Amino acid sequence: MDTSPFYKKILLKLSGEALMGEQEFGISADMIMMYSRQIKEIVDLGVEVSIVIGGGNIFRGLSGADQGVDRVTGDHMGMLATVINSLALQNSLEKLGVQTRVQTAIEMPKIAEPFIKRKAQRHLEKGRVVIFGAGTGNPYFTTDTAAALRAIEMNVDVVIKATKVDGIYDKDPVKYKDAVKYEKVSYNEVLTKDLKVMDATAISLCRENRLPIIVFDSLKEGNLKKVIMGENIGTIVVAD
Ligand code: UDP
Repeated sequence: MDTSPFYKKILLKLSGEALMGEQEFGISADMIMMYSRQIKEIVDLGVEVSIVIGGGNIFRGLSGADQGVDRVTGDHMGMLATVINSLALQNSLEKLGVQTRVQTAIEMPKIAEPFIKRKAQRHLEKGRVVIFGAGTGNPYFTTDTAAALRAIEMNVDVVIKATKVDGIYDKDPVKYKDAVKYEKVSYNEVLTKDLKVMDATAISLCRENRLPIIVFDSLKEGNLKKVIMGENIGTIVVAD
């Protein structure tokens, strides 16, 4: 049996909400450990792992704006939330003996390295997981876009988006029993049908750079490894 990974260099996108588990806010220790175990499993296979985490479990600029927070300020708060999540994931990965570095798009040298591509590349080559915090560093963007951007910059094979559902459906599978799952779907179809994968900016970036996206159910432990080994357990987004 071939035990070498199908994807050797990946970027994993975790949403902030993925870290909440059953909680309504913040970080669940069990959830973050569950993701850390899955990440360790693929690091042990020799996969180079970059990670981008969202901040929605703590703060989102758009929701802040609804409550009267200036949008740019709110987005800065959201980006700082992603740094909190990045440090939490770093902590739990290191508890499992996985070496990590956090690099941020907004400089905060007392707690993390600034984002420097060449340095990140060296870390990956040495088997360290690199967690990219603070999104793109710019307001009006999302961490999905940050994930696509870093993935392209770091030349990864694939962006892997961890979700609660087992792939992309033609309509919301929670609301509609007859929703059909795609095994494969094109960037254009995702954009024209407004399928909930990543925001349009992120999808366009991936399309322009022919970077495949895989969406999979990350709540089943062991699934991340299956994706890395090339098993078709989610949905892949590719060109037409
Ligand atoms: N954010 C931003 N620029 C970025 C990335 C994120 O301003 O490049 C802010 C934005 O306010 C966003 C928040 O950070 O709402 C948290 O990120 P996101 O909503 O993407 O997190 P997720 O939904 O993945 O938890």
